[in-house]
Amino acid sequence: MKILTAPDLSRRQLPLMSIESANPGPVIWLTACVHGDEVSGIVMIQEIFKNLRRTLLKGAVYAFPLVNPIGFETSSRYITLSEEDLNRSFPGKKDGTLSERIADQIFSIVTKSKPTLVLDLHNDWIRSIPFAFLDYIENIAHPDAYEKTKVFSKKTGLLPVFDTEEVKGCFSYNLIQKGIPSLTLELGEPYVINEKSVDVGVKSIMNILADLEMIKPPAELFSFPMPEALKDKTLKYIYQNSSTSGIIRFLVKPGELVKKGQPVARIYNAFGKLEETIAALNDSIVLGHSDYSVSFPGTSVMSFGQF
Ligand SMILES: [Zn+2]
Repeated sequence: MKILTAPDLSRRQLPLMSIESANPGPVIWLTACVHGDEVSGIVMIQEIFKNLRRTLLKGAVYAFPLVNPIGFETSSRYITLSEEDLNRSFPGKKDGTLSERIADQIFSIVTKSKPTLVLDLHNDWIRSIPFAFLDYIENIAHPDAYEKTKVFSKKTGLLPVFDTEEVKGCFSYNLIQKGIPSLTLELGEPYVINEKSVDVGVKSIMNILADLEMIKPPAELFSFPMPEALKDKTLKYIYQNSSTSGIIRFLVKPGELVKKGQPVARIYNAFGKLEETIAALNDSIVLGHSDYSVSFPGTSVMSFGQF
């Protein structure tokens, strides 16, 4: 799909993949690399398509494996040419900014196919565990689509985590508000392909396809190993920020359970004097921590799935 003609008349295009069974059935869309530095979803889509060529029983799967080729080539989250975040530009605008125009094209083609579910594949911090991220929506236009999204989130085999901030330009948010169930999957580290994360992502998506009877169910459904205490818990996504400058030392790892008040990180100045201890706000699981150990007042230090 053509998205742009550059000043040298070169054409920028989005690769579009499709596989359709002769038997009618659900329509699934997979999208990856809307943030150009979040690369592992590209490979997950490639692996899934290789598999589906032999195994798709009904319905259709479509994919944009490389939604932001411009950001990808420069290892940037953004549409580098305009420094815009494509995942804050939906549903897009025909006569809008570059990012809004690209978003509009993607949104139109995806919604036109009336999908059963759209999975948008992302990566969180370098040190993070995978989870299924559900949008926070203040005024839900299509409660049925939101309820279905919640059910799908449990079928991924990943930890379902509800956002606590409304992100109105987000792809999945706008799909749900159009009546299309959609999840953002956060699948481990950005920047480089981690084969373990690829395996987790592929299995999680296969769970969904098996649940919709689009493929034969695997011998055993995938479930990301998590502490027993989290079984059937609903989690809220919380960031904790620092209020001082310094060097961050992390006291807990992604995947660990923490108790309310437990120290999770300490910030020291250049002489080694303790400036701040960050304590968990509530009983939670650590989802990830900052890619850098540099802290300024307001730096996001750690993210949690709060019980
Ligand atoms: Zn992302």
